[in-house]
Amino acid sequence: MSKVLKFGGTSVGSAGNIRKVAEIVIAEKSTVTVLSAMSGTTNALVEIASRAEKDPKDPKLEELFSMIRGKYARCICELLEDREDALKRTAQTLDIIRTEVTGYGPKSEKIILAQGELLTSYIFTCYMKEAGQRAVLLHAPDFIRKDYEEKVDMTLCENKLRQLVTDPDTYYITQGFICSDSSGNTDNLGRGGSDYSAALVGGAINAAEVQVWTDIDGMHNNDPRFVENTYPIPRMSFDEAAELAYFGAKILHPATIQPCKDRGIPVFLKNTMDPDAEGTMISEAEDNSRIFHAVAAKDGITVIRIYSARMLMAYGFLRKVFEIFEHHRTPIDMITTSEVAVSLTIDSDCHLEEIVKDLEGLGKIEIEKNNTIVCLVGNLEHQQRGLAETIMKGINGVPLKMISYGASHRSIAMLVDTRHKREVLQSLNNSLFTQNRC
Ligand code: ASP
Ligand code: MG
Repeated sequence: MSKVLKFGGTSVGSAGNIRKVAEIVIAEKSTVTVLSAMSGTTNALVEIASRAEKDPKDPKLEELFSMIRGKYARCICELLEDREDALKRTAQTLDIIRTEVTGYGPKSEKIILAQGELLTSYIFTCYMKEAGQRAVLLHAPDFIRKDYEEKVDMTLCENKLRQLVTDPDTYYITQGFICSDSSGNTDNLGRGGSDYSAALVGGAINAAEVQVWTDIDGMHNNDPRFVENTYPIPRMSFDEAAELAYFGAKILHPATIQPCKDRGIPVFLKNTMDPDAEGTMISEAEDNSRIFHAVAAKDGITVIRIYSARMLMAYGFLRKVFEIFEHHRTPIDMITTSEVAVSLTIDSDCHLEEIVKDLEGLGKIEIEKNNTIVCLVGNLEHQQRGLAETIMKGINGVPLKMISYGASHRSIAMLVDTRHKREVLQSLNNSLFTQNRC
C-alpha cells in the first residue's frame, strides 16, 4: 500500500521537528515524502529575489544570506553526526543564490526560490540515511513538468515516477513546490504549492492515500484564529473541502484536491506536533450525519452593482456583463440578480478601474470594498424545512449584503462587511455548531 506524505514548513522548521517527521515517515512507511522548505525560507528567498532585481548591491541582501546560512547550519549541527556534506551543500546553495543575485536575469527568481526545498530535502535525506534507513532523494523538476499551457504533464509524471519509485523498502524523498517549465528550466507551482506537489505524486503513483502534515490538527469547522470553540472535522468530501479551501480555509491549497479526487485517493490532514490526533479525512464519501459541517471566510471582496432599466425583460444582458469580466481576466465569486440590478463580487481589484469603465456603458455602477464572504458548507438539501430560517437566526442580526443559496446542495455564501466578520463567524459557531454537537 503506497502512501505519499507531505510535510509543511513548520514541520521541517527545526532539527527537533525534523526528527518527528522522520519518526512519522518510518511509522507510516511513507513511499514518497514531499517536503516544503524550512519555515521562513521561501519568504526570505522572495525578498532576496525582489531586492536583487532592483539593486544587486542592496546591503540587506547580506543579512538575508546570513539568516538563511545560520538557520540551516544550526539545524545541520543539531541534527546530523556527519555534518561535512550537508554544510558543504549549504555553502553551495548560497553560492547559487549569490550568482543569481549578481547576474540577475529572467530565470533568477525561480532558481532562487527553489533553493529552500532543495536544501531541506537534502538534509532530511542525510538524516534518514544516518538513522540507518534506505533513502533516495528525487529531484522533483525531473518528474513534475509544466506544458506550454502551464499545466502539469501528468503522463510524464506517471512515467518518470514509475521508473524512479521501484523499491518498496526505500524511502523516496523529494521537494514540494518546485517543478520545471516546458523548456526544462526551474519553475514552481506557486506559493503554498507543496500540497499540490504531494497530490500530483500521489496521483502519479496511484497511492492508496496522501497525507498532508502541518501544525494544525486537521480542517476546523470554523477559523480558530477568529473564533473560540472550533473543532477539527473528522471526515469531509472532496467537494466540501474544495469550497472551504477556496473560501479561505488556509490549511489546504484548493488545487491540491483535484489530482486525488480524479483518482479517488483519500487525503488525510494530520498534525506533526500531535501525530495521534485524528485529523481530517477528505474522500469521496459524503458525511450525512450532520447538517452543518463548516464555515470559512474570505476577505478582500469587492462588490460591483449594476443598475439598469435595460435589464427589465431583456435577454443577453448578463452575457454582456460577463464578457467584460472575461475580457479583464477577472473571475466572479458571487452573483445575485433582480429584474433591474445585478450584484457581483470579485476578490481581485487589479482591473477594477477598467472593468468599471466598461460596465458604465450598461448602467449605473456602485462599488463597495472591504467585504467578506462567509461560506457555510454542509448537507443543505433544499427541501429541508426551516433550513434558511435556522441559518438566518444563526447570524444573529448581522447585516447581510448578498446571499447566494441554491447553486449547490452543499453551500450557502453570505456577504458581510469585513467589520462584522468575527461576529458572524462566532455567532454561527455558537448557534449551528457547538450547541448541536453531541
Ligand atoms: N515553500 C513554499 C512556500 O512557502 C511552498 C510550500 O511550502 O508549500 O510557499
Ligand atoms: Mg502550506
